[in-house]
Amino acid sequence: MRFVDLHRQRDVIRGSLDSRMNAVIERGDFVLGKDVAELETALAEFVGVKHCIGVANGTDALQLCLRALGVGPGDGVFVPSFTFVATAECVSQVGAVPLFVDVDASSFNMDAGALERAIARASKDTDLCLRAVIVVDLFGLAADYAELEAIAGRHNLDVVEDGAQALGARLGERRACSFGALATTSFFPAKPLGCYGDGGAVFTDRDDLADLVRSLHVHGQGADKYDNARVGLNSRLDTLQAAVLLAKLEVFEQELARRDEIAAFYSDHLADGYVTPEIPRGSFSAWAQYTLQVDRGRRDSVCQQLADGGIPTAVYYSTPLHRQPVYRDAAGLPADCPVTEELSDKVFSIPVHPYLTDAECEQVVSALQACR
Ligand SMILES: *Cc1c(COP(=O)(O)O)cnc(C)c1O
Repeated sequence: MRFVDLHRQRDVIRGSLDSRMNAVIERGDFVLGKDVAELETALAEFVGVKHCIGVANGTDALQLCLRALGVGPGDGVFVPSFTFVATAECVSQVGAVPLFVDVDASSFNMDAGALERAIARASKDTDLCLRAVIVVDLFGLAADYAELEAIAGRHNLDVVEDGAQALGARLGERRACSFGALATTSFFPAKPLGCYGDGGAVFTDRDDLADLVRSLHVHGQGADKYDNARVGLNSRLDTLQAAVLLAKLEVFEQELARRDEIAAFYSDHLADGYVTPEIPRGSFSAWAQYTLQVDRGRRDSVCQQLADGGIPTAVYYSTPLHRQPVYRDAAGLPADCPVTEELSDKVFSIPVHPYLTDAECEQVVSALQACR
């Protein structure tokens, strides 16, 4: 059993994949080619926003958002502490300071009360100009944007949605990657919609921000390639990767439905013995990860027992960002993230990719029931 099975997916999409990739090679439009524009249009429509800009990876996507918002040295940006490092790294990349915020124990996403407290502490104890909040939709579940956007609005903070793990998720009628002033996703191979290498995208409804991101992602270009309006990046989505993504987009809805079916099966059978993920009413997760919690100290033995039975697991994340070497002595604000610290000792993720067979799902459940 694989944790993510791109081989089985390839068997399903082979026809479309091969013809799309060959067409790119025949045309030779490797950089900013036809499929990039086609993918941007398709994804903007899928998410329900006006603009989508393909970029080189999900980390650049975040950095481009911060740069489009004018965030830089002297600024503070709130980020959750329970996330992948890129959510904080992009803040450091633009010269600003990440300010860590605790998460909610059941959604794993940024906690509204903790954001209020972090804003109050940062206003009192730092001289940073508080500019933005990066909200993450962890493991595929959209965060509570109604509350978080209201708090950000009261404090004049721009919201950026880090939807790297959540493309395909829904919150009520709205899709993930449609929240905040700008939103991002990643097409890293293991994400819900992954390519065959690195890739990412920025989404926004605002024309002014879309224009800035478009300029910034091609060397800060002005009217044309040889007119340089600002300092930018070289951060384009490759046309071959766009071709791969267009082929995968054809089966994406079915994959999301299958992930949700597997997750429901797990939750039905594992709630006795494990803390299973809770999906709030009206929310639909993209199930980038299916994450269980066990008592402190038991995780290693459970994961070892699963490994002995041929079932792969992964721990996201065993070290909170505020305890990473790069951030533990950082200039910001001493982190107050007890929930993150507890979760980092208790969580582990099991395979939830859409090509698991029913028999494999049953095997995962029996193995976990045997460890209780
Ligand atoms: C994967 C990920 C990123 C970064 O995406 P890359 O494409 O790997 O640069 C950012 N944020 C979160 C939450 C992620 O999971």
